[in-house]
Amino acid sequence: MKVDKPSALGSFSYEVLATQWAMGNRAATLIHLCMYADALVGLQGLLPELIWVKTAEHAISYRVDAYMSYVRYVKKRFFGRCPKCRASYLPEPVPHCDVCTWWEVCNEQRRRDDHLSLVAGMRKMEMKELKANGVETLKQLAYVHFTANFRIATGTMQLYEKLRDQAKVQWRSRQSGNRLLYALLKVQPDQGFRKLPEHMPMTFTWS
Ligand code: SF4
Repeated sequence: MKVDKPSALGSFSYEVLATQWAMGNRAATLIHLCMYADALVGLQGLLPELIWVKTAEHAISYRVDAYMSYVRYVKKRFFGRCPKCRASYLPEPVPHCDVCTWWEVCNEQRRRDDHLSLVAGMRKMEMKELKANGVETLKQLAYVHFTANFRIATGTMQLYEKLRDQAKVQWRSRQSGNRLLYALLKVQPDQGFRKLPEHMPMTFTWS
């Protein structure tokens, strides 16, 4: 809610207002709104003075100062009990990524990290196996030499060699300024086009 108090944004600033049918759980609502108010500091350089709850009957305001110390304590305690929260990595790609509003953020981070999911044809299971063998990025996979120490619990070595070759093509393409490169696959008997029947003479009849 725009208010007249000056901030880094100009002669105005914002306060947080939530609409609810009824006040319900007051403590949870106030903590929730204070978290938003705290997040506003990064945008307007100013902690809002008030937070608002608008119910079906009326609008009630609360002074942020009165609750912020407790909210910061709750926040600190939460992260203290969950040390991995801050260090957690974005989830592996899932079908929902195609419609997710965070897609750009996740995609950017994966590209920055040269994430294994960038290798075409890579699946979650293979990423897990590769990581267990110390291969964490597309570049590392492109240069990997599969020795006897490379242990896999699932899949075949041919599968990992195929992924390595794919990573190599992508890595070289990147090095050459994103030119579209390709590698010809060996013709396999009874695979791909070899599965098609032999050609036979065709006769067309026009009526
Ligand atoms: S884009 Fe969305 S669904 Fe996909 S990993 Fe990121 S947050 Fe999860």
